[in-house]
Amino acid sequence: MNRVYNFSAGPSMLPLSVLEKAQAELLSYGTSGMSVMEMSHRSADFKPIIEGAEAALRQLMNIPSNYKVLFLQGGASTQFASVPMNLLRQSKRADYIISGQFSKKAYEEAKKYGDMAVAASSAGADPIFSTIPATTRASFRPDADYVHICYNNTIFGTKFPEIPDTGMIPLVADMSSCICSEPVDVSKFGMIYAGAQKNVAPAGVTIVIIREDLLGERDAKGKFVGTYVRPDTPAMLNYCQMANEDSMYNTPPCWCIYMAKLVFEWILDMGGLEEMKRRNEKKACLLYDYLDNQDYYIAPVESKCRSMMNVVFKTGNEDLDKKFASEAAAAGLKNLKGHRSVGGMRASIYNAMPYEGVEALVAFMKRFAEENPKD
Ligand code: PMP
Repeated sequence: MNRVYNFSAGPSMLPLSVLEKAQAELLSYGTSGMSVMEMSHRSADFKPIIEGAEAALRQLMNIPSNYKVLFLQGGASTQFASVPMNLLRQSKRADYIISGQFSKKAYEEAKKYGDMAVAASSAGADPIFSTIPATTRASFRPDADYVHICYNNTIFGTKFPEIPDTGMIPLVADMSSCICSEPVDVSKFGMIYAGAQKNVAPAGVTIVIIREDLLGERDAKGKFVGTYVRPDTPAMLNYCQMANEDSMYNTPPCWCIYMAKLVFEWILDMGGLEEMKRRNEKKACLLYDYLDNQDYYIAPVESKCRSMMNVVFKTGNEDLDKKFASEAAAAGLKNLKGHRSVGGMRASIYNAMPYEGVEALVAFMKRFAEENPKD
């Protein structure tokens, strides 16, 4: 077996021990005599898997009991529509902070469903987004139904240095590329969502964590009646329906949920999110410290907004950038090419990337700089 250090932004590396456990259980899970891939989602074997995944995530993120956890499909991009379809509760207005391509996409999608405004934007010329815009409560319309942010910007390598203060307005955060990388105070958010394919599982499941009051009233049986949901919302996008049916309105992505459970248990075994943060900081510091103490590579992100998960840098010469990515790949350091809208390089160093992978990258960067002087 020859596994490389995979710096892909997503789908990304999964912990080796998780892959090995999945491999060991691939043909027959527990006493079931079948693979999780072959199991009915309504079976007695699958029920503890989805319930166990939720329980492990609740423990890991310390999710308060008045929040629902949903396992949905359609990727984070589907949430760009689901959020306004479900959460435009009164004024039908919402405010977006634009800090990168995904928050822009979320805003553009939401415009189809209500009166959306850009509360703040860090769009610049070059690079397009190298910082996070500052906001105060005054940045938001007082009657906005929610404020939306993308907490970690995968493409541009930025992260909110702090959670914006939106006062009483619920804050909705896309945490696709930073969920479970460090502790977060879930109670500061009305809703958190994340596509799984970076820190959690293979692509195919989207996690939604939502405060119950945002789902509206319940009937006598305790089921959400859909107070705020747009009438034309597809069932698959309706949080109330999904919450009422424990994410089992239809067949959920069983295998991905099983993998998410293994990953959550792996993080718990490692010491939880405090320990993840310590490890992730150590990795990110190694790379940023190197970048800050040399003059060959350019690291464009404002230091207080740097992402711990996605580190972007470039040589300043497109041909050298190309050479870097291809020679790195040949040396077993894969997927370091930056996003097509930014160029340069991007090292995604999610939870599963070992410290040794970042050490190998820094050693390669030093060697490459020596061997390829700029005129
Ligand atoms: N938001 C962020 C922060 C992302 O990084 C991505 C994908 N890389 C998306 C949204 C879109 O996710 P998906 O491909 O799951 O729709």
